[in-house]
Formats: sequence, C-alpha cells, structure tokens
Amino acid sequence: QNPVPHASCDAVAATVASGAVEHDLDGFIDCVQYQSEGGYALLKECVSGERDVESVIRTMESSGLRGLGGAGFPAGRKWRIVRTEPGPRLMAINVDEGEPGTFKDRAYLEHDPHRFIEGMLIAAWAVGVEKIYIYLRDEYHGSRSMLAAELEKLTASLPMYDVPEIILRRGAGAYICGEESAMIESLEGKRGMPRLRPPYVAQVGLFGRPTLEHNFETLYWVRDILEKGGEWFASHGRHGRKGLRSFSVSGRVNKPGVHLAPAGITIQELIDEYCGGMQDGHRFYAYLPGGASGGILPASMNDIPLDFDTLQAYGCFIGSAAVIVLSDKDTAVGAARNLMRFFKEESCGQCTPCRVGTAKASALIEQPKWDLALLADLSAVMRDASICGLGQAAPNPVDCVIKYFPHELLEHPDEADG
Ligand code: SF4
Repeated sequence: QNPVPHASCDAVAATVASGAVEHDLDGFIDCVQYQSEGGYALLKECVSGERDVESVIRTMESSGLRGLGGAGFPAGRKWRIVRTEPGPRLMAINVDEGEPGTFKDRAYLEHDPHRFIEGMLIAAWAVGVEKIYIYLRDEYHGSRSMLAAELEKLTASLPMYDVPEIILRRGAGAYICGEESAMIESLEGKRGMPRLRPPYVAQVGLFGRPTLEHNFETLYWVRDILEKGGEWFASHGRHGRKGLRSFSVSGRVNKPGVHLAPAGITIQELIDEYCGGMQDGHRFYAYLPGGASGGILPASMNDIPLDFDTLQAYGCFIGSAAVIVLSDKDTAVGAARNLMRFFKEESCGQCTPCRVGTAKASALIEQPKWDLALLADLSAVMRDASICGLGQAAPNPVDCVIKYFPHELLEHPDEADG
C-alpha cells in the first residue's frame, strides 16, 4: 500500500478549504485515547435521551452525506427508510474494499477505529438495529485482529448501554461481494451473487430482515457531522459541490495516498494541490476517476468536478473515489486490457451478458486491431441486460478508449499492455 497522508477529522475542517493540505493518518488511537478525547460522549447523549432520533436523522440529511462505498445514496434518507420497516432490523457494514485503487477505509480503520465504531453504534441506535454484521476484507489480517480486540473492549467502555451484538465476518476475496446484495448473500454463508431487486435490502436484506447497509467510511463521518452540524460537512466543496471526499490516489504522482479534499475538486487541482504534482519524467496523460469500472478520461478533460453525478455525461463515475493517474509512459489501451481481464476474472457468472460478455470483450481487445462495431454491440448488451453494476459498468474502460483515445487504436495497440 502507498504511504498514507492523513486525515484526522478535526484538523480537516480548518485546513481542507485552504487547499494544499496533508493530514497525517500515522499513529493509532485506541479505545482509551479515543474516550479521553471525547469519544463516545455523543453516543452517550443519544442513548441517554439527550438527543432524539429525529434531530439526529435530520442533521444527517442536512449534511448531504452520501454512501461513500460508491453508490452515493443519501445516508440520512437511508436511516429514515430502514427505520420505518418492521423489526427486527439488522445492519451490514462493508469493509471489503475490493475496488482496485481503493484503500481509504483501511487507512481510517487502522488509524481511528472507534470513530467508525461510534458512528456505527449511533446509526444502529437511530434505526433500531438489533444485530450488526461487519464484513471485513480477509486480506486485512492486521486490521481484523486489531478490530476484534477493540470491539472486545466495548462493553466495558460503555456500561450505560446495551451494545447490540456485533459479528465480525471475513470476506473471501471476491470483488463482487462489494455489491451490497452479494455481500449479504456471502454473510448468509452462500456464494456471493447479487440479488435481483426489488425487493431492496432496506426491506428484505440479511436473513430476510430489513437491513441498513453502509460502507465503512460513511459511518466514519457520523461523529463529526453530529458534533459540528450538517452544515459543517456541507460547507466544504468546490465547483458547486458539497461535502468532503477521501480520494485514494495512486499512479504517477509524487504523493499517492489518501487525500481528504473538497467534493467537486478537479483532477488537476487534486494532483497539483494534494499530490505534489506528477513524478519527474512523467507528463499527465489520463486518469481513472473511479477505480476499475469508473472509466478512463484524458488529461485534456482535467476540469470536471469529481463527485457523484458529475461524470455520467462522460460515461464515467467516481464510485469510491479511487483515482489512478496515468502518464505518457502508460496507455489507455493497456489499462483497458488489464481491467477487462479483471472483470472477466471477477464476474460471478450468474448472468450471461456479463459472464460471456467480459470474456468476449477481453478476447476482442487483446487483438491488435479492435472490431469496433462488435465491441459497441457487446457493450450495449452488457449495459442493458446484466443483473448488476459489474456487468453494466465493465464496458466503461473500453468505451472510453474508443471515445477519448482513438489515436491509440491507430498506433500499435499490440505493444500496449497493462
Ligand atoms: Fe454476476 Fe456479472 Fe451478472 Fe453481476 S452482472 S450478477 S457480476 S454475472
């Protein structure tokens, strides 16, 4: 993993707006230190009745916080929806972090786990959740033992409160289990395959119960938002966007890592202000704004606000904000080949457009000359007929190469490889 610049929540607010900031995620805040710095006071206010559920949900809604795993569903609205479903209600938290290029959740988890745990318990209290399942990436061995140890301390740390049962489960390395319904299948002990919807997991989720599903980072921000107010979170942002985003930046920049930056920042601003510019000998050529499936854009399109809803017009999306920066030493064709091999490998195989489509697309783009008409047909079928986002978004990198990097297809694509 890349060295991780920093993001302690407090320092963030004051500094993010000013632009070129680094936040040190070094160090580990254990339960004792977390409590000595005011941790769990907010949870105590909630469970003692000093704060009421309606005001908490309203603050979450006013913050504009959206699901930071990639789907971007408004968090406060999700709490309200699940709360109205009949009990018993469950909660499932995705810490599988399988999107290529994404490492923000791990960085926060290994720095300040109780900030996440407190957000999780407040969400569980507000929604009336009886049991919490945490789905943790199996490759995060160190995180697992640390998190298990910190969870053990909870009951002793929160004597005034009947902590809901928390079950820590290990993922098994499948990309598709980042999709919420596939994760739920996996948590139930089945093969991780996405479900058809409706019904939505908010209504019929884990073990058939209404389920509040969240990404790790969404819950990580709950404490700051409730302490500082929804307006505090919403007051950040650039180019008309609101909030903060934790960008996992990798590739040809001087300072890769987790960069907490205003929502809506452009790639050029992110590189210049947060990533120390491009590495010596590398010229900015292209970028992946949202991990494997978020597409590929050329450096000439460096002024698009990076946020939910802003990239669709270009056939891309931000997802979990995994930004991969390519230089003139890379090719978009090489990246697309690499990504399509990945999708072929990770397709769960449940539906034909994706299972066969990713394999077919991968074979087609390995060819020196691309059959553009056939690829266009294949993309359309995969987008229209795949069950879940994996198959629907898998054509994005290929379509982007055809649209934004046609010169590469005229050159020597057989020499390019990711
Ligand atoms: Fe599985 Fe792909 Fe179909 Fe999704 S689109 S259900 S990953 S085969």
